[in-house]
Amino acid sequence: MSQRITILPETLTNKIAAGEVVERPASVIKELIENSLDAGATDISVEISAGGRRRIRVTDNGHGMSREDALLSLERHATSKIKVDSDLDRILTLGFRGEALPSIASVSRFSLATRETDAPEGTEIIIEGGRVRDVRACGMAHGTVVTVEQIFFNLPPRLKFMKSAETETGHVADVIARMSVSRPDVSFSCTSDERDLLRLQRSDLQRRLSLVVGRESSQHLYPVKGGDDYASISGFVSGPALVRSGTQTIYTYINGRFIRDKVVQHAVMQAYRGVIDRGRYPVVAIFIDLPPGEVDVNVHPTKHEVRFRRQSVVHDAIQEAIEEVLRSSPWLAVKPSPSPPPNGAITQTYRERIAAAAQASLALPPRQPYRPQPAQQTCTAYAPPAVPQEKYTTVSEPIPPFMPEQTHPEQAGYFSSLAVIGQFHSEYILCQSGSELVIIDQHAASERVAYQLLKQQSRTGGIESQRLLFPETVELSFSEVTVAVRFSQDLAGIGFELEPFGGTTIMVSAVPRLVVNKDPMALIRDILADLERFGTSAAFNDAVESLLSRIACHSVIRGAHPLDNRQIKELLSHMDHTDFAASCPHGRPVSHVVTLAELQKIFKRT
Ligand code: ADP
Ligand code: MG
Repeated sequence: MSQRITILPETLTNKIAAGEVVERPASVIKELIENSLDAGATDISVEISAGGRRRIRVTDNGHGMSREDALLSLERHATSKIKVDSDLDRILTLGFRGEALPSIASVSRFSLATRETDAPEGTEIIIEGGRVRDVRACGMAHGTVVTVEQIFFNLPPRLKFMKSAETETGHVADVIARMSVSRPDVSFSCTSDERDLLRLQRSDLQRRLSLVVGRESSQHLYPVKGGDDYASISGFVSGPALVRSGTQTIYTYINGRFIRDKVVQHAVMQAYRGVIDRGRYPVVAIFIDLPPGEVDVNVHPTKHEVRFRRQSVVHDAIQEAIEEVLRSSPWLAVKPSPSPPPNGAITQTYRERIAAAAQASLALPPRQPYRPQPAQQTCTAYAPPAVPQEKYTTVSEPIPPFMPEQTHPEQAGYFSSLAVIGQFHSEYILCQSGSELVIIDQHAASERVAYQLLKQQSRTGGIESQRLLFPETVELSFSEVTVAVRFSQDLAGIGFELEPFGGTTIMVSAVPRLVVNKDPMALIRDILADLERFGTSAAFNDAVESLLSRIACHSVIRGAHPLDNRQIKELLSHMDHTDFAASCPHGRPVSHVVTLAELQKIFKRT
């Protein structure tokens, strides 16, 4: 009889558990902060060096541990937070699995120093790759200090997955920001390579949020209060003037724990349906409080996912609470500024944008979808090339959205030779070519034309950039700021000039000329969200085409847009100078031909 199965040694099981709990420096910091909060700390400071890859230290002023507890805390499944089965039904602490400390200690050079409030001295335990090297008494303030050095030094495959110090720093700041929002009564600080990254004094939720999402953005947040005894909902949500291109600013908390949950996210997005465009996300900090037995947080080791006993009740409570705020349109109360420039998205401040949004929504019955007025009369998709632009233009002048450089040769190409029948639904152009009906998707076509122009410009020395009369600031997440800084040179090559402006803000002073009237700040957000995935500058070059197609997409007006005959002709002529792969940069078809024979078949003439 052979024995194939053995029970794994604990150093190995801890390493396996670490695979789930410890993904990167930010996840270590999340676990350590959770422990500090569970220990009643009111002051938590984090220090990192090289993005946490070299060193992480979390210091708290919580209740600390005795020597015995400190030793026990490093054993697997050792916890002070639950004792019996039924405790799992009433978890009020952030931790309970008893896994974090041993897991972290198994994949790093680790030290835990801790002292109880009334103890004469502290205890320090040194561990390397899960093996205890030293346990000694130490002098220290009361509380706990955990130091994690050279994370993954003994787990080479994981080491490879770590990103640059800047990227990891961004993730660390994001994690601290998320957790700090749940506990405005606790002060948080973080230094990165000895420089201040975050300093958050104790305060209330609104002030804490304003530090995390940016003061400008926080002006567009409105309080939510809803739900009932079963599920109470509170927090802040943004109006239609404040949107982001990713879900990072949807902060949701169940019983004080930050979570990313599909049900909760769905409820939030449902509430915003029709209020913000698809592909846009609100800024939201929502706290959902439930009886602890009604939510299972023991679904995933990182506890980011949860399961609700009464999922639909929670879903609807969230949706209704947010809808209530959006329905009352609090942003309409903001005094509109004196007439904003006709097509000058650039010079508009956030406050003015709110006013513009307010005017737009005023024209609609309540609960009608809010649309950010794409088709203003003064700005058409195919405006003829107007007055030459001065270097520093005021953006209220009409600027042609695009204008291929070459003058058009006299003889007509295929598209120019089409006989224009007219426009269908303000979205399609109908033309006749002999016995064929040619249907052109005007949005896809103009996107293709813009894309072609951008590609041409990028080949011949750079995308035409337009300096903004008033540089604009954009508030981002910490990780997006690091991306913006890292790629600033590359971004300059495609027409964006930007620089850090302190904290989570960047300042944009130039944008590709094609998008100058088309909410370029939303485009920047989208591009930074893309870039966050690329990682390196080499990858940037590979991604340029997709970025150009994004810019092209932004440069044209979406949806229905009436065109007069001259504008249609203009577009057709641009199309003749475009190298058509018969599809827009997204691969959608640009034109479609219906033959006479096909029509006759439909009408049973054959
Ligand atoms: P869990 O948090 O799930 O209980 P951990 O491995 O994170 O598991 O921590 C184990 C135990 O160590 C905790 O239950 C707690 O009693 C103790 N502990 C950890 N960190 C601290 C801290 N910063 N202050 C006081 N006690 C702590
Ligand atoms: Mg813990």
